[in-house]
Amino acid sequence: MTDLSQLTSSAYSQALEVIASVEPRIAEATRQELADQRSSLKLIASENYASPAVLLTMGTWFSDKYAEGTVGHRFYAGCQNVDTVESLAAEHARELFGAPYAYVQPHSGIDANLVAFWSILAHRIETPALERLSAKNVNELTEEDWESLRHEFGNQRLLGMSLDSGGHLTHGFRPNISGKMFHQQQYGTDPETGLLDYDVVRAKAKEFKPLVLVAGYSAYPRRVNFAKMREIADEVGATLMVDMAHFAGLVAGKVFTGEENPVPYAHLTTSTTHKSLRGPRGGLVLAQEEYAPSVDRGCPMVLGGPLSHVMAAKAVAFAEARQSGFQTYAQAIADNAKSLADGFLTRGANLVTGGTDNHLVLLDVSSFGLTGRQAESALLDAGIVTNRNSVPNDANGAWYTSGVRLGTPALTTRGFGHDEFDNVAELIVQVLSNTQPGTTKAGGPSKASYTLADGVADKVKDASAEMLDKHPLYPGLELS
Ligand SMILES: *Cc1c(COP(=O)(O)O)cnc(C)c1O
Repeated sequence: MTDLSQLTSSAYSQALEVIASVEPRIAEATRQELADQRSSLKLIASENYASPAVLLTMGTWFSDKYAEGTVGHRFYAGCQNVDTVESLAAEHARELFGAPYAYVQPHSGIDANLVAFWSILAHRIETPALERLSAKNVNELTEEDWESLRHEFGNQRLLGMSLDSGGHLTHGFRPNISGKMFHQQQYGTDPETGLLDYDVVRAKAKEFKPLVLVAGYSAYPRRVNFAKMREIADEVGATLMVDMAHFAGLVAGKVFTGEENPVPYAHLTTSTTHKSLRGPRGGLVLAQEEYAPSVDRGCPMVLGGPLSHVMAAKAVAFAEARQSGFQTYAQAIADNAKSLADGFLTRGANLVTGGTDNHLVLLDVSSFGLTGRQAESALLDAGIVTNRNSVPNDANGAWYTSGVRLGTPALTTRGFGHDEFDNVAELIVQVLSNTQPGTTKAGGPSKASYTLADGVADKVKDASAEMLDKHPLYPGLELS
């Protein structure tokens, strides 16, 4: 039998030849992207490496099919194979997460959140209004009733975690549509400990009485008790929506169980599929039965035609995550984050909340005399790919920031373990302690420039290369 890496090698080599026959520069950029990903330390907490099976599934003629609607109820003819794909993806998602209902059409995490928001408005505002007015749908309303319903849609409240405490733009951040379509308020973390304080969330919820309570995060290095969040939502009559975009892999891999698993507690759980879950770029909504009919209207309410090729790849990724090896992977993500955090703490670096118990650490770089932007750039010079991130009450604002966010899902996929992550902490500390902040033309400290001492980048790259060579990305995949 031909082994899989050989098959993958010839599949991609031939695909690149076909692409090069039309636009060789795209084929070349594609090759270069693989080479770059292979040779850098990818610590971006929201990124991963999907399997060749997932990636190959995306490159097919399913891309060419329109399939607006739902399984068995499409606005286009000829959707029998898309129906197979979407049913399988949804079935795998329900089984994987133990959810009553799964909607696999959202094109991205933000789309999944928009579907959830509108389905909450549909379920809690529109449906009761239509019942009250004995109308089947909004087209049957008088102009006056329609205006009043539109007014109601536009005057609902949402409470979510603030961006600089680790929440996401879509959790009510004012510049985002979520902060404009809702009256919004935000909860933060404790200024001393950096931890979520449920009593503060409860007090805010009681005062603000939101329709939607959002939990979940992009840059909070701790676990959340979703039973407590649901209790708070119930106390104020809110719908609990949990956005598990970052940590869906830890839920799927049963690292987050009991009250740390959002799926049984949330009315709606949204996610991306490409972060710790290691699938194709896309979104997902899980829901309790009562919300299923309104979520099902995601397309055409918010979404256009589903990306059938990506739904197919979601089915493949969910099938992978249902294999027992995925639980080992998910546990390793969390164990490795601990090793990384301990590596920083033993070397005297500061971490927001003093550590981690999920897949990410938030390194406060101000003790190195640097902004997050300087740190991110200096690290990139040394082949370490990260992203800068605000820390709570960040003195440098959201652009320059004072932190760097680091996650373990990607390098864990490559097989990095405790010793490697300890060494990653060492290399990062070496870079940052050898970086000097620059000065502006005016002579003050510049937030954009820095100097990395001679020789450090090369030394760090050599040390990284040794680890990366030991744990190749897509072992056996060779492009001809
Ligand atoms: C990444 C992320 C999203 C957005 O996902 P996209 O696929 O980039 O749209 C939404 N919510 C949270 C919490 C995220 O971390």
